[in-house]
Amino acid sequence: NYTILPMIKVMINGSRGRMGQAIAACAVESGVHISSQVDAGDDADQFIEIVDVAIDFSHHLATLPLVRTAVAHKKPIVIGTTGHSQADRDAIAELSNEIPMVWAGNFSIGVNLLFHLTSITAKILENGYDAEVLEMHHRLKKDAPSGTAERLLEVIEEAKGLNPDVRTHGRAGITGERTDNEIGVHAVRGGDIVGEHTVFFAGEGERIELTHRASDRRIFAQGALHAAKWVAGKPAGLYNMEDVLGLR
Ligand code: NAD
Repeated sequence: NYTILPMIKVMINGSRGRMGQAIAACAVESGVHISSQVDAGDDADQFIEIVDVAIDFSHHLATLPLVRTAVAHKKPIVIGTTGHSQADRDAIAELSNEIPMVWAGNFSIGVNLLFHLTSITAKILENGYDAEVLEMHHRLKKDAPSGTAERLLEVIEEAKGLNPDVRTHGRAGITGERTDNEIGVHAVRGGDIVGEHTVFFAGEGERIELTHRASDRRIFAQGALHAAKWVAGKPAGLYNMEDVLGLR
């Protein structure tokens, strides 16, 4: 006696982009049917009604309008786009009262484990170890630091009880000595690097480095498709990949 679950139907926003194409390529093996492909100039409102979940990997200005469309049609949404303004972030988060939303700066399993390990390490080391974050991406990436680096900074700040004003973006000129509480963040751009993140905890006489290297966009695509299956049928609320993977 067994039940065959129907494939969930998904709309991709940003379908012509690198991530949109990776998601389409991974859909069948993930048991997801891509029913609507939407990109700049298309009217998402026309396509969303026939799907179970919308997935957004597009442009930071496109996310809030799409979330409003998803709310109007009561559809769950998975958001992978990064680089939103604080005002947009607040507006998007507010709308998670209306629909279930998985919002993550990084959908790979390995990076979500990196978040977890960074939190544990920051808590264990407490003071005496200077935290710095380094990220590297391909030359076409439009925002900096990456959404993943932003999340790593949040994780370190949460673990150490610091405010976001401790972030120091790059360093140049006569900066003076490093203070105990600042967290440096550095963005390298070049070539075809898919995405690399290192968290340094530099102490006196030793240094710990936690590194994740992505070599294929499929890890993000598979994670986003997994999140789409997970979020269908969940109550309204704001979830992240740690919820999807059961890491919290
Ligand atoms: P890309 O530039 O290759 O693709 C973006 C696509 O969005 C393009 O086809 C573009 O035409 C389309 N687009 C632009 N404006 C639009 C609009 N108003 N409505 C619909 N589509 C629109 O970029 P990419 O590498 O695919 O990345 C897309 C986004 O996903 C970026 O913000 C990137 O940082 C993010 N990203 C997130 C993760 C993650 O795991 N969360 C991983 C990789 C990339």
